Amino acid sequence: MKIDLQELVGRVPLVEDLARAQEVFWENPKKKAFGDLTPEDLPVSMEDIKEAEARLERFRPFIARVFPETREAGGLIESPLARIDDMAGLLRDKNDFEGDLYLKLDSHLPVAGSVKARGGIYEVLKLTEDLAKQAGLLDGGDYEALAGDRARDFFKDYTIQVGSTGNLGLSIGISSAQIGYKVIVHMSQDAKEWKKDLLRSYGVQVIEYESDYSLAVKEGRAQSEADPKSHFVDDENSLDLFMGYAVAALRLRSQLKEAGIEVTEDSPLNVYLPCGVGGAPGGVAYGLKLIFKDGVRLYFVEPTQAPCMVLGMATGLHNKIAVTDIGLDGKTQADGLAVGRPSGFVGRVMDPLLDGVYTIKDQALNPLVQELYKREDLFIEPSAAAAFQGLILPGGSKKGTHIAWATGGRLVPQEVRDDLLDE
Ligand SMILES: *Cc1c(COP(=O)(O)O)cnc(C)c1O
Repeated sequence: MKIDLQELVGRVPLVEDLARAQEVFWENPKKKAFGDLTPEDLPVSMEDIKEAEARLERFRPFIARVFPETREAGGLIESPLARIDDMAGLLRDKNDFEGDLYLKLDSHLPVAGSVKARGGIYEVLKLTEDLAKQAGLLDGGDYEALAGDRARDFFKDYTIQVGSTGNLGLSIGISSAQIGYKVIVHMSQDAKEWKKDLLRSYGVQVIEYESDYSLAVKEGRAQSEADPKSHFVDDENSLDLFMGYAVAALRLRSQLKEAGIEVTEDSPLNVYLPCGVGGAPGGVAYGLKLIFKDGVRLYFVEPTQAPCMVLGMATGLHNKIAVTDIGLDGKTQADGLAVGRPSGFVGRVMDPLLDGVYTIKDQALNPLVQELYKREDLFIEPSAAAAFQGLILPGGSKKGTHIAWATGGRLVPQEVRDDLLDE
C-alpha cells in the first residue's frame, strides 16, 4: 500500500512529529474502561494464561536440569522487582511524580538475559511438550526424562527457526540448542556482532541479512515452511509467545503482594514497557490488564527512529504502515527495539487497553544506562533504559506506583558494557 504522507498528517497530526523524529507522548483515544470491554476485546482469557503458567510449572524439573543457572530456584525463570530510590530522585528532578519507582529486572532473567526468556522459552517448551507427547516420551509424565539421551536423540531431528534483531534469537537459540534441537536464527542488520558470536558458540546456525527485521522474519518463515520438521517462532503473530509473556503478570502480582504494594484506581500501577514489534510488551500488558483492570496504566516506549507501534495505532493502519513510509530509517542503537513495522495482532489487541506511548531519542539512552549503573549498581542495555522515558516526558499518570520494565542486559559482554558506561 502506498502511503500519502500529506493526507495522513492531515488526518493524524501526530505523524508530523513522528516523521521529524521528535520525542512525543501519545495518549490513546481508543482506550476503554475495563467494564466497557467486550469479549472481542479480550481474545485471551485468564484461564489461558493460567494454563501457560501451569505448563511452566510442569517443566520446572526439566528446566532445572537443562539450564543449571535455574537450579537454585527449582527451575523457575523469574526476575526480582527492585525499588530504585536514587534513580527515582534523579528522574524527579526532570519531571516530578508521586509514589515509588521500581525496576522489573527482566534484564537479569536466567538463560536469555532479557524479557525474551519469558515468551521464547515458553514457546519452545510448549512445542517440546507437544512433540514429546506425540512420540510417547511423556507417557509416564516424567518431564525431567525429557532431558535424557533418548529424548535428546529424538529432538535433534527437529529444527527451530526464528527471525530476530537479536534478543529473541538469543532466547530461542540458547534454549533450543540446550534442549537438543537444531536451530537457525535469521538475523537482521541491526543485530549486534556479539549476539551472533554467542549463538554460534552454542552451535546455532546464524544467517545474516543485509536488510531489516521484517525481511529476516519473512525469509525465516519461508525457509521453515519448506521443512516439515521445522518450527518457526513467529515474533509478529505467535500466540504462544504472547502467552509466555503474559505469565509475567501473575508473577508480578505475587511480588507486589509481598512488597505490600496496593493497587487501586486512586493509587494505580503505572507500567512502562520498551516496545519493538510489540509481542513482549503486549503480552505483559495484557496479563496486567486482566489482573488489575482499571488499577493499571499501561505505557509503551519506542525509539524516535522506530516508533512503529504508535504509528500503527495512531493511524489505525497497524502493520499496513512502516516507519520508512514516513521517512524514518528505523536505525537505532536500541537494537531490541529496531523494528519498522509493528505486529498487527498486538496493535489491535492493544487498541482498547493501552494508555499511551512515549518515544525517546537515542542520545538519551546511554546517560540513563550510566546513571542507573552509578546510582543503583544495576546494568541494563540501552533498549531497556528507554522505559525511563515514561517518567521523564510530561503526560501520563504521575501518581501511584511506577514500574520501569528493564527488558534486557545480563548477557551483554564486559567490553560492550565498558564502552557503554565509559562514554
Ligand atoms: C525484544 C525486546 C523488547 C521489545 O519486545 P518486542 O516483542 O519486540 O516488542 C524490548 N527490550 C529488549 C531489550 C528486547 O530485547
